[in-house]
Amino acid sequence: MQNPLLTPFDQAPFSKIKNEHFKPAFLQSIEDARAEIDAVTENTDTPTFENTIEALEFAGQQLDRISSVFFNLNSAETNEEIQKIAQEISPLLSEFGNDITLNEALFKRVKAVYDQKHNLDLTVEQHTLLDKKYKSFSRNGANLSEDKKKRLREIDAKLAKLKLTFGENVLAETNKYQLHLTNEADVDGLPEGEKEAAAQLAISKGKKDGWMITLDYPSYIPFMKYAKNRELRKKLSLAFGSKGFHNDELDNQENVLEIAKLRFERANLLGYKTHAHFVLEERMAETPEKVHEFLNELLDKAKPAAEREFMQLEEFAKKMDAIDRLEKWDGSYYSEKLKQELFNLDDEKLKPYFKLENVINGVFKVAEKLFDLQFKEVEDVDRYHNEVKTYKVFDVNNNFISLFYADFHPRAGKRGGAWMTSFKSQWKRNGENVRPHISNVCNFTPSTKSKPSLLTFNEVTTLFHEFGHGLHGMLANTTYPSLSGTSVFWDFVELPSQVLENWCYEKEALELFAKHYETGETIPMELVEKIKESATFQEGMQTLRQLSFGLLDMSWHGGDPTQISNVKKHEDEAFKNTNLYPETPETCMSTAFSHIFQGGYSSGYYSYKWAEVLDADAFAYFKEKGIFNKEVATKFKDHVLSQGGTENPMVLYKRFRGAEPKVEALLERAGLL
Ligand SMILES: [Zn+2]
Repeated sequence: MQNPLLTPFDQAPFSKIKNEHFKPAFLQSIEDARAEIDAVTENTDTPTFENTIEALEFAGQQLDRISSVFFNLNSAETNEEIQKIAQEISPLLSEFGNDITLNEALFKRVKAVYDQKHNLDLTVEQHTLLDKKYKSFSRNGANLSEDKKKRLREIDAKLAKLKLTFGENVLAETNKYQLHLTNEADVDGLPEGEKEAAAQLAISKGKKDGWMITLDYPSYIPFMKYAKNRELRKKLSLAFGSKGFHNDELDNQENVLEIAKLRFERANLLGYKTHAHFVLEERMAETPEKVHEFLNELLDKAKPAAEREFMQLEEFAKKMDAIDRLEKWDGSYYSEKLKQELFNLDDEKLKPYFKLENVINGVFKVAEKLFDLQFKEVEDVDRYHNEVKTYKVFDVNNNFISLFYADFHPRAGKRGGAWMTSFKSQWKRNGENVRPHISNVCNFTPSTKSKPSLLTFNEVTTLFHEFGHGLHGMLANTTYPSLSGTSVFWDFVELPSQVLENWCYEKEALELFAKHYETGETIPMELVEKIKESATFQEGMQTLRQLSFGLLDMSWHGGDPTQISNVKKHEDEAFKNTNLYPETPETCMSTAFSHIFQGGYSSGYYSYKWAEVLDADAFAYFKEKGIFNKEVATKFKDHVLSQGGTENPMVLYKRFRGAEPKVEALLERAGLL
């Protein structure tokens, strides 16, 4: 029988695919892709943009399609067999990737084109593609002498190992700690559901009775939020804050120092001043100086509000429990109590207004009013699970724009969270505009026997968020697939998603869909006002916290770390302008800061706030002209959504907005002005 993955397909042929098809399909398509790349490398004609850069861009397309089908399934509909195949395939794919970036003959041809880029008659998009391809080699050392290349490989190998060890230590520290409580008074304050979960955890850890609290978020966070016993909160908080900081075999201080120093050396080898300079070259923010300026500007503006909020919280705690000095382990607990007192908002009150079908129709209507899109549910598209809904998307002239898959509810085999992905990207070739296949995957509250699926407000904003990413994919209109849709710089990718969330708070938008599932009554505006107010509760303190992490990240990566010998001292220095709570010598953030020392966020933590500034500034433009104003929406579509990564994001943004983003809109939305 034919392997359906090796037969050219447009829509992914889910119903024909069996697990045993994947491995042979990968092996065959890797081989095909290699042959296509060899043909580029071995071409004896003078290197040109077409025969080298463009040829490289369109090599291995079948492999891309198979990979997207496979890895999307591994996230949304996985099983042990698929996971086993992933274990086998992943090293082959990274080996294939390395073979390209380390291919010297290929780099020679790419460089030949790159070196004459100013004499070539290229479009802006082609220039961007050329830069991107060239840098995928040069940033991996392709321009270095042999001995420097060797050192780079050594550094990469060491870093990979150190990052792994760092992560393993954090995990081991997390798993090692257990707080077993046997006196019911010690879990006083926890909601019944949390108590039950803690009791079950105790049993599953081999205890006869009692309650178990651990450093895992689902256990730790509720305890810090609700537990009345202050001494226990302190104990737990100090344990949480000192992961990797006990001078034992799981200590991460040396690992932190070594990672920072190796990254610095690597950047220097490649000709960059610091690791942050290296990372930010491919970001909208561009330089560490700009990131510092950004963080410090926000710090100046947020700090007074944060200090006011902190005082309010301290007074509240004093009044409630005669607490003199608010400590780190008090913040979450008293904030929760204060929030309850101020807003008394609970999900159950809001949910009846957000039946899933109504919210979907709402987001489609918003897309229709803004971008003239029509969503038509269709049954004739092959799907990987019968819960998946499929839509065909058309523009106002009935042109086909995109295929859209929506997979909303949790299932065994689906990982947690919510995300947007694609089964096929968009590109133009030989006069044809090939349209994309986009997917949103979520884990929303399912329906029950007596009730339809009713979303929490948080789920509503999540749906709009992922749909915003979806629009970025669906409306893509670029020539090259690697620059299409959401293939943009990291600190730009959350603009379309976050900006769309803003519609969830607007009367004009809510009236379209937020109707009681039984009575049809539109959501009362005073409820909406409450949602808005509670969304900015303690925004100053939250902002300060995010900024402190961004500043810590930059302190490790934006300078020369070779003289740093004391992790804690260095960290205290980085935190000195953002502290609200009294210092605790027992704790250290860096030794468990997995985002930047294990994951991919080094020199990138600032981007959380950066994206908020962008979306607030963009939405302020809509607010100014009307949230359904066609002119603004069309500009957003033409200059942002359809453009992918074809140009520097700041250029795209300015073309949409008429100016660079300013922090004022965020400060205003957050109530910090
Ligand atoms: Zn997102």
